[in-house]
Amino acid sequence: MGTIAVANPATGATLAEVPLMDAAQVAELHSRARAAQPAWQELGFAARAAVMWRAQRWLLENTQRVIDTVVAETGKTYEDAQLTDFGYSVQALGFWAAHSERYLADERSHYWGNPVLAGKRLVLRRVPLGVVGVIGPWNFPLVNGFGDCIPALMAGNAVILKPSEVTPLSALLMAEMLSACGMPDGVFQVATGDAQTGVALVARVDCVMFTGSTRTGRAVAVAAAERLIPCHLELGGNDAMIVCADADIEKAANAAAYYAMNNSGQVCISVERVYVEAPVYDEFVRRVVEKVRALRQGPPAGPGSVELGAITFPPQFETIDAHVRDALERGARALVGGHGRGSGDGRFYEPTVLVDVDHTMLTMREETFGPVLPIMRVADIDEAVRLANDSDYGLQASVFTRDAPRGERLARRLEVGAVCVNAAQINYFALNLPMGGWKRSGLGTRHGAEGIRKYCHTQSILVSGFGLRRELFMFPYSARVTRLLARLQRTVYGRRARLRG
Ligand code: NDP
Repeated sequence: MGTIAVANPATGATLAEVPLMDAAQVAELHSRARAAQPAWQELGFAARAAVMWRAQRWLLENTQRVIDTVVAETGKTYEDAQLTDFGYSVQALGFWAAHSERYLADERSHYWGNPVLAGKRLVLRRVPLGVVGVIGPWNFPLVNGFGDCIPALMAGNAVILKPSEVTPLSALLMAEMLSACGMPDGVFQVATGDAQTGVALVARVDCVMFTGSTRTGRAVAVAAAERLIPCHLELGGNDAMIVCADADIEKAANAAAYYAMNNSGQVCISVERVYVEAPVYDEFVRRVVEKVRALRQGPPAGPGSVELGAITFPPQFETIDAHVRDALERGARALVGGHGRGSGDGRFYEPTVLVDVDHTMLTMREETFGPVLPIMRVADIDEAVRLANDSDYGLQASVFTRDAPRGERLARRLEVGAVCVNAAQINYFALNLPMGGWKRSGLGTRHGAEGIRKYCHTQSILVSGFGLRRELFMFPYSARVTRLLARLQRTVYGRRARLRG
């Protein structure tokens, strides 16, 4: 069996070696998961929730260790790890412990629209799929990897998590946590390894939840389609921000600087391009430049030490630089930054603000996934909306205006899965609100009712035998009856529609 060396991207120091699991080892994990799952399902919601509540407490008691692990393997700042990886996990454990049973409860109904159904009880039931494979990326190892495991587990599935090869340590820590909190053996396991480990996992599990690049997501979808298993994809984005002339410019500039640069821009929902109405363009750019220039970057050394950490994934550094070089060659100007820089053995890319950009440039069309903020002047809001929608991606967007109802109207014109008005990114913390992409940004959603129902089969049960006298067993179903039923439908529902209209 091979191993993978895990390094700190901010210092280059080797942190640990983890197993590079091959297909046979993934098959072993899968057998263990399959064997453990029925008892976990049988335990019921309350007992499963008890494990999650204990895990939440464990996280709170081990805050420093969790944050240190995330910071070490990603090179991100203490604040990025605390707010997002740690904060989200604490919140998500409690949310799914509290709400899963309600989201997955049986639904009982009757349907009176057809005489053959008179008196029948209709039941919709949800049953866990079995073994769910979660494949996570390196930018938020706890949020995008472990976070998706929580609802899958609460639904009664066993889960195998395949973290990115560069950030497996946080996932292993979560396995240690769940085991310490009473999770039965085999219910939650981590498959450390590389892309081939991911391929082997998709070949075994009953459902895949994948977060990562659009290219790999497509390969995962094809493999899942071959096996006819459900697959949910949260992929790349190229999120637009629109700044209206009536916006609070200070607030918009703060949001642009923060939500483009947090986690060094390695956020699927980071602000990747900004369109600003001409009357406020100069002022907006001036403020953003001032704020971005003031940011400190370097190896994180505890709270408050730097605002930007390292670039986690080595090839990502080349992608960011290629996008910046491409923009500069095509006529853009870098008002701040524009270069990668080393600090010891760490990998850093300067926080960069680009102007004079257009849609011929890679940074306006592809996911840069780095601390780069291109800003474009637009004549009016119609042009901003047209350019925002001129994208193969459709993950998120944000709109800044002092007129909140107008902001909401603008949001409805954007072809993306989520829009924030006078904010950005924070919808991710609204765990009751679905989050997912349109176009090349994904398939399906996480969070909300669908965020857990997707890990279940549905079973419809029709029960006859109640109030037998009221039932019509052998209904004479002639064309005449169909016409009568249609007339009835039109009378009831058509009338309602007319009343509403
Ligand atoms: P990938 O999409 O390649 O990898 C994501 C996860 O999938 C990793 O765990 C990876 O394993 C695994 N994997 C890779 N190939 C396969 C496969 N064929 N079958 C199953 N699993 C597989 O992301 P990268 O890490 O390469 O990042 C590349 C780009 O993706 C970034 O530049 C960025 O644009 C985008 N990205 C988007 C994210 C988002 O949140 N939307 C998050 C991360 C990246 P391993 O890492 O071990 O190879």
